[in-house]
Amino acid sequence: MSVPPVPVLTLNDGRTIPQLGLGVFKIDPSETTQVVLDAFELGYRHIDTARIYNNEEGVGQAVASSGIPREDLFITTKLWNDDQGTDTAFAAFEKSLERLGLDYVDLYLVHWPCPAKNLYVESWQALEKIRASGRARSIGVSNFLVPHLERLLKETHIVPVVDQIESHPAHQQPATEAFATAHSIAVESWGPLGQGKYPLLELPQVTSAAAAHDRSPAQVVLRWHIQRGHIVLPKSSQRARLAENISVFDFELSENEMAAITAVESVGRVGSNPNEMN
Ligand code: NAD
Repeated sequence: MSVPPVPVLTLNDGRTIPQLGLGVFKIDPSETTQVVLDAFELGYRHIDTARIYNNEEGVGQAVASSGIPREDLFITTKLWNDDQGTDTAFAAFEKSLERLGLDYVDLYLVHWPCPAKNLYVESWQALEKIRASGRARSIGVSNFLVPHLERLLKETHIVPVVDQIESHPAHQQPATEAFATAHSIAVESWGPLGQGKYPLLELPQVTSAAAAHDRSPAQVVLRWHIQRGHIVLPKSSQRARLAENISVFDFELSENEMAAITAVESVGRVGSNPNEMN
């Protein structure tokens, strides 16, 4: 099946990123290579992993055996909380590259701010050096709230290219999004489908748009993220759902449909609270 190509967005450092990627959180390490190869076959070129997902090797094996030129792929991994600090961040980055079997990653993120540790500024300074070495082409953060972003902007040199945050119709984080946008930090939506923990796909606003466009509810929610200008990282290990989730670039939600989904009642996060995760 051929689907329209995934558009790219330009980041604040001038590099480009496919607007939709496959998130591999909770994909079993033994299945990861095959799932990522399936995704590549279906047109995905952007993969979001992390040291804590324990499947960087599987992603790397898929990259190596895919035959796709490295420069056509966009691979993200993340610095885990226990590795925050200066020397620890350098060492953790080396190990991630080794597990991935890559010379460089396209994007390296600080996974959580971990405010009680108070090491995210030092960690970010380590990422600045890693970027200068060329082995992380771009650097960004994840789960940073406004006070964490403000501190980085004040105390360090490089503005993160992205903030990867929990974002879906029932938890939109308007303050973080507004701050990020004002500073040219792109928003990446994690848990874009609410991790299946909140019945997003059964909301009447979503099911009526799905019926109107002859699409699935998941496609409508993903399209809502895309039209908001977010980078979106849906996860699935099922080939049919991988195909469904990338087929969101040949229809458009109307302003009214967008507004109705944006007006969904906020029930709060389905994941961890960035102020409490350490
Ligand atoms: P998600 O919202 O992508 O939900 C995934 C679940 O949605 C699947 O397990 C499946 O049950 C369901 N689903 C997927 N496609 C579907 C479809 N077409 N129809 C119906 N149901 C479908 O949640 P996620 O995996 O937590 O988030 C996506 C990615 O974001 C992760 O894989 C990871 O890469 C990233 N992430 C990052 C953080 C972070 O702290 N930075 C945290 C969580 C996730």
